[in-house]
Amino acid sequence: MKEIRVRIAPSPTGLAHVGNIYIALFNFAFARQNKGKFVLRIEDTDIKRHVPEAEKVIYEAFEWLGLKYDEGPDIDGPFGPYRQSERLDLYRKYAQQLIDKDLAYQKDGAIWFKVPGGQTSWEDLIRGQIQFDHSQIKDFVILKSDDYPSYNFAVVVDDWLMKISHVIRAEEHISNTPRQIMIYQALRSPVPEFAHLPLLRNTDHSKISKRKNPVAISWYQDQGYLPEALVNFLCLLGWAHPLQKDVFSIDEFIKYFSFEHVSTSAPIFDLKKLDWLNGVYIRKKTD
Ligand code: GLU
Repeated sequence: MKEIRVRIAPSPTGLAHVGNIYIALFNFAFARQNKGKFVLRIEDTDIKRHVPEAEKVIYEAFEWLGLKYDEGPDIDGPFGPYRQSERLDLYRKYAQQLIDKDLAYQKDGAIWFKVPGGQTSWEDLIRGQIQFDHSQIKDFVILKSDDYPSYNFAVVVDDWLMKISHVIRAEEHISNTPRQIMIYQALRSPVPEFAHLPLLRNTDHSKISKRKNPVAISWYQDQGYLPEALVNFLCLLGWAHPLQKDVFSIDEFIKYFSFEHVSTSAPIFDLKKLDWLNGVYIRKKTD
């Protein structure tokens, strides 16, 4: 059987975001359940938004929450480098390959992907069949004029070369997926499985944001939340325990996790629930 390989790919833009950690937990559990590998990749190609300290903050958050990755920039691995800024030659090489095959072209100093006619569909592990008609998708940039790749291109080249078998990420990327599948096909790479998790929401149903909720993991740490309470809370937001339990450990999550029990409706990020869970975990501690 093919090895299960999943990844979390945060952009180092300032803080370890609770939304990223939520996605990381699902990837971590799926990898552990299947004796696969969990990869951390730093997507640092957006130079304008790059914050030098941010990478360290990400490592610290993963460590605090017990999310041990098997490969990553700070520990390396067989498919490195794991920082996109160190992989620019690869993006260039494959963009050129697409030009040579007449599947991409140069315009205004950038390289554009030529969207073919037709349709793209996939069987999402959480949402079932999703289909896009290519008439809705225009040609798009894969390599910018500053020689940096666009997100859609870098992510495909990396997921392919890092042999990622399952892409588990937030639903905000659903509209990127047809573009990415087209690139996989153009590169003659196998296409991974996709699972799009529901996005965390503020109580007014907007996408979780720092204006309405604390999103930095360090805030939770400073406020005295226990890592196991935060982990339990985040798992519970997107997934229902088959025995309807509210309080469970990460090991139990790993044991019982299945995409079937992931909800497709927007989970509301309710700090009151976290406070309650935190109390449960604190009372379990000895003096
Ligand atoms: N850097 C992207 C993000 O943080 C990764 C998305 C993906 O998993 O493909 O949203």
